[in-house]
Amino acid sequence: MRALIVIDYTVDFVTGKLPCGEPAMAIEAELVRLTEAFIREGSEVVMAVDLHEEEDPYHPESRLFPPHNIRGTGGRDLYGKLQDVYRANKDRVHWMDKTRYSAFCGTDLELRLRARGITELHLAGVCTDICVLHTAVDAYNKGFDITVHRGAVASFNPAGHEWALGHFGSTLGAKVI
Ligand code: ZN
Repeated sequence: MRALIVIDYTVDFVTGKLPCGEPAMAIEAELVRLTEAFIREGSEVVMAVDLHEEEDPYHPESRLFPPHNIRGTGGRDLYGKLQDVYRANKDRVHWMDKTRYSAFCGTDLELRLRARGITELHLAGVCTDICVLHTAVDAYNKGFDITVHRGAVASFNPAGHEWALGHFGSTLGAKVI
């Protein structure tokens, strides 16, 4: 069984408060295509979405990044047509808040996947070299098979993007397709 994990493809991360910009806008159509394909085949689809509280002094990212993906703001909406796909398929797509880079950190993602017999994870979203990377590292350590969709991941940092694509294959044993 396989699942699609779409990571942090929100307004704030594409064009908003902490934007990847053009590279992230460029993957919208492929992300929508992938999401619709997984929905159609009846596979698990998870939107893993960063969540922050306003002016949280205890969150390590408060020292690293400007405020983003604040609870209750439109910055946490999925970007572009992906939000429409989510709205139209709320019964089929699982929304999951996360508060760290990895979709596994502090969430019930692993339990959810194991309960459904899912062994194969397909990763997409942003940023290739931050949240997608950290999720892939955790997935590797937990023994999941990993596929990263190169046309559906993006970063503000071209060098980091390329490095991470190489790392997925060479070190995490992922298929990069
Ligand atoms: Zn964050």
